[in-house]
Amino acid sequence: MNVYAFTLRFFRFIRKFVPDGVRKSDFIQKSWYLLRQKLGRPNKHKQTVLGHISVHITDHCNLNCKACNHFCPVADENFLDIESFRRDCIRLAELTNGNIGTFWLMGGEPLLHPQVTVFFDIARTYFPNIKIVILSNGILLSKQPDTFWQSCQKNGIEVGISNYPVKIDRETIAQKVTTFGVVLTYWGDRNTEWGKIFVLDIHGQYNYKKKWNKCTLANTCTCLREGKIYACPTVAYISFFNKYFEQNLETTEQDYIDIYKVKNQQEIFDFLYKPLPFCRYCNPGNQESMEWGISKKEISEWT
Ligand code: SF4
Ligand code: SF4
Repeated sequence: MNVYAFTLRFFRFIRKFVPDGVRKSDFIQKSWYLLRQKLGRPNKHKQTVLGHISVHITDHCNLNCKACNHFCPVADENFLDIESFRRDCIRLAELTNGNIGTFWLMGGEPLLHPQVTVFFDIARTYFPNIKIVILSNGILLSKQPDTFWQSCQKNGIEVGISNYPVKIDRETIAQKVTTFGVVLTYWGDRNTEWGKIFVLDIHGQYNYKKKWNKCTLANTCTCLREGKIYACPTVAYISFFNKYFEQNLETTEQDYIDIYKVKNQQEIFDFLYKPLPFCRYCNPGNQESMEWGISKKEISEWT
């Protein structure tokens, strides 16, 4: 059976198992990702549409989980500048013809930004037809004013909650979602699935090609920050770690791509499809499980 026929059969087969209330496309996407992970080939496909872009609306967080893989517990307070976001959206829309798989607005905790709904308006203006999700830890969600929910509804913004073992007012949230007709999804179970995703080697002695080959984030978990695209949050936000712990895990111009310098999106796909020099600091495939908890801001949470 050729690859095309196999893929088609796989998708047909998997559709039978879609649980109630879960969108077929989300279920298939996740199953496909898990299958590639099982086969040890998490990142072995060159993209033809940018599947995933995430942007930090804030760098800091009100939860501060230990070993957060965006390094938010050790980030300075930082609110994304609206005009910088608008510029980046215009350029990215120009490069992609407005066609991206999913645009994630996250952090840190994005609801800490006092103008969070302005980002909804801007993202939807330049990406009229794609899935846009705001991903939150949910703590502040039940306290959002009606204008927040109206903006989600008007702009077709989905609300995602990362499922941490903390108390959130699920009842009020469910009520708001129903009243305003907004799509809500709970993601993962951080109670049972928590750990150091990558144990960093601060001396950078790993073989970067081998590590990239094993990485589940490479080519799938793309971040946009200040006009630059990064293949993963580790590189995008390592500066928080470096600053707080006075380290120097070095990023070079080969570790990101500048959206204002590329001629077309193919250059972005080519960049995302190759190992990064920075991968020498990472140890994917050796996740250390641990109980979820609040960060003590100790370097051992990441190393
Ligand atoms: S809630 Fe998310 S962003 Fe905030 S510290 Fe935890 S893992 Fe990081
Ligand atoms: S630096 Fe390389 S190995 Fe580490 S998360 Fe990013 S892509 Fe994966």
